[in-house]
This record gives sequence, C-alpha cells and structure tokens, in this order.
Amino acid sequence: MISQPLTAVSAQLAAKKISSVELTQVHIARTRAVEPRIGAFNSSDETAALAQARASDERRAAGKSLGPLDGIPIGLKDIISVKDQPLTASSKILASYISPYDATVTRKLREAGAVFWGRLNLDEFAMGSSTENSAFHPTNNPYDLTRVAGGSSGGSAAAVAAGEVTASLGTDTGGSIRQPASFCNLVGLKPTYGLVSRYGVSAYASSLDQVGPIGRTVEDVALMLAAIAGHDPLDSTSILSEATDYRAALAAKKGPWRLGIPKEYFGEGLDPEVAAAVQSAVDFYKNLGCEIREISLPHTEYGIAVYYIIATAECSSNMARFDGIRYGHRSPRATDAVDIYAKSRAEGFGEEVKRRIILGTYVLSSGYYDAYYLRAQKVRTLIRQDFIDAYKQVDAIITPTAPTPAFLKDSHKTPLETYLGDIYTIGVNMAGLPGLSMPCGFTKAGLPVGVQLIGQPFREADLLAIAHAYDSAHQWSQRLPNL
Ligand code: GLN
Repeated sequence: MISQPLTAVSAQLAAKKISSVELTQVHIARTRAVEPRIGAFNSSDETAALAQARASDERRAAGKSLGPLDGIPIGLKDIISVKDQPLTASSKILASYISPYDATVTRKLREAGAVFWGRLNLDEFAMGSSTENSAFHPTNNPYDLTRVAGGSSGGSAAAVAAGEVTASLGTDTGGSIRQPASFCNLVGLKPTYGLVSRYGVSAYASSLDQVGPIGRTVEDVALMLAAIAGHDPLDSTSILSEATDYRAALAAKKGPWRLGIPKEYFGEGLDPEVAAAVQSAVDFYKNLGCEIREISLPHTEYGIAVYYIIATAECSSNMARFDGIRYGHRSPRATDAVDIYAKSRAEGFGEEVKRRIILGTYVLSSGYYDAYYLRAQKVRTLIRQDFIDAYKQVDAIITPTAPTPAFLKDSHKTPLETYLGDIYTIGVNMAGLPGLSMPCGFTKAGLPVGVQLIGQPFREADLLAIAHAYDSAHQWSQRLPNL
C-alpha cells in the first residue's frame, strides 16, 4: 500500500482488501521509519488522522463511501489551514499558531473523506526553490539524500515520493508545485489562476498563487483536482466553473494534438541530460501522431526580472499583516508599539523573507514604482500575450520543468543562482495558465527529470488528457527511491 498510486489504493479500499485505519497505520509507520532521513513533515496528528480513518471505515461499512478519496492519507503543505492544527508556513513568526478554521481546499478534501496526515515542510512562506529556506529544517530528496527535494513545496513532494502519504497539496506561485514534483519523480499540477480557492492559504504573491495537487500519476492528480476545484465566494478571484470529472476526461479526450516547443526554453543553461529526457517525451508525442511545432515566446528573457519584481512587491504587502499584534510571534523584548513591529518581525522572519520584503518595498516606493513595478506589470502583459499568440497554432506547449535535476544541498551561493532556476515555470504563473510537470526519465546518476506541459486557461481537462497519454504509456512512477 506504500508508494502506490492513489487510484490503486482507492480500488483496494473499495474492494475492502484494506481498511482506512490499516492504510493510515501503514503510512504512520512508514513516516516514523523514513522521516529522520527525509524531513518532509513539520508536524502530524496521529490521533486526528486515525479518527478520520475510523470514520471513513464506518461510512464505507454503511455503504456511504464519499468517493475515490475517502479514507486516503493526504498531506497538506504547511501554509494550508486545517482547523485546530498548527500552521507554521515554516516560519518562526507562526511557530505556535493554530488555525481556527479550515481552508476551502481542506474543507473540500474533508468532504471527500480524505485523511489528513502531515503538515508538510516548505521554504518559509513559500519563498524559495529548495525547502532550505524553512526556518525549521531542510527536506532531503528521497532519490538522493544529499540533494534538495525542490521547493517551495518540497515537503509535499518528498512525502509522496517517500511513501509517507498517497498524495498531497502544494501551492505554486512561480513553480513551487511543478519543480519539486520534477525533482521527486512525481506529477504536479498548477491549475489556472482562479480555478482553485486560496481561502485559508497563507498568501505570498496574490496575483500568482494557486493551490494544486502532487501525486504519482496524472490520473491521481486528476482525481485530486476534481475534489478541490470550483468557485468559492470566500475567494473573490475564484471563477464560476462547472464541476468537472477530470479523471473521466483522460480517456474521453483523444489526440492527436498540436504541441509547441518554445525555442527560448531550450537554450543556454539547460542541462544536457534534462534536454535529452524532455526530447524523448517530445518524440513520444511525435510517434503518437501529434504535430510538433517550434514556437517562440519572445519575452521569456524578461521573465525572471519581471517575476522577482511582482512577486516581491506582493510579498511585501502580504507580509505586512505579521505585525506581532494580531497573531504570530510577539517579541518579549519590545517596549512600545513600533518596537513590537520591528523586533517581532526581525526575530520572526528569516533572511530570504526579509530580502523580499525589502526588495518589494523598494520597487513599490514612490519614485521607483513607475520604473520597476509598473513597467514589470506591462512586460507581464507581453509575456501573457506571447502565450495567447502561441495558442493560435498549438493546443499545448512542452518544455523542461527545471533547467537541472535536483541540486546538492547548500550548493547555491547567491539568491540569484536559485532565482534563475525558475526560468521555465514562472511564465505560467504570470500568464495565469495551467501547467503540469510529469516524470520523463532519470539522469545517469539516478535523478528524476520532469517535463512540463502548459495548457490553455481553464482547459485542465485537455492538459491532463495530453499528459495522461504519455504518463500511462510509461512506468516512471514505479521507479521508487531506495530508502
Ligand atoms: N522559486 C520561486 C520563488 O521563490 C517560486 C516559489 C513558489 O512558487 N512559491 O518565488
């Protein structure tokens, strides 16, 4: 039951070959065994998980199963609220915070019968690409413990890859679901901006953030998406959408598709082994009868600069709520109100969060707003237009997810080195598009490689079907880490 696709585990539960309590116990034991080497968890609540599992078994015995997720152990990134559970955002400033309510995605998974196992590690407030920015501990890559699991949803990826949970939720502002999925041999989906509610999810950059699933297969991710998507009156950016059976769409939609290869995504800095694995996925689609076209996304070169202006600007605004007054850490050494803000924030935030607050405050300040923030917003529109133009000729775009496989821990010497690794994922967020990463091979050293598929707005059903055609014809997910 460990490290099997959600669909397979779900079938075993339905056939009553295993109970949810047994399944949960197996995952608890697995977590105890591997967690000292992985570090994917910030906290967990065995009593609450087993109570949920028992309730699931009782429903099933009464013939009232809630569907494919009922009784399945699912981990949530530790910025997604779960009522009465800690939410730390991997920050000292929230180290002792307890959520008073469920996020909407949490409520939806609860209503689908999921068992919550694990509050999963991340880069502090989702700012980073390696989970090394966690204030508590880093997360190790299950395929090579000396390497990072990716980030910021590194815990969400590592926990699935290490068999501690069956699937998980992460968030993606500039690649934080897709990049760790690619580093850990998993499928990760960043839905279209507006498809999934962010209510109850700690905000990083609100015009970019989306919640999405990480799982072993495209089918697993389709099932998870169906459970969490949909309009939420509590998130004004969520759109009115019909409930979609994304899993059913996988078989219903058949190619051949027209796929675009953006020439700007295959240039300097791309690891040759990654390029070769992605090329083999492209060849697969070609052999399937798909039309492969070279396309251009000409504003790609501005992506990193524009993203790190917009994301830090929004970060500086969102982090302002952590004032030491309403919630979170309050400095015991503060003497007056201004001192509370200054000391609580100085003690509570880590280095990368502070860097981004400073950068963001700068680009929004009078005199610099027009030169940086406003200009970045204009270029963002051009980046989005590149994609819209491309979709006149192609159904989806295929690229590497990250320029390299998982890198060694502590190997990045400057923040810029890390930022440059986001080059292939941030365009999707700035354009508000759905993007998916799935496994497409391994390097000679045994590191997983991911390929990214970028779809059209709100056409996740098509994107997942295109991905499923490849994923279901390969067995990458069966190559498990040696733990
Ligand atoms: N690595 C990017 C950043 O640090 C993306 C993070 C994310 O998607 N949350 O901002």
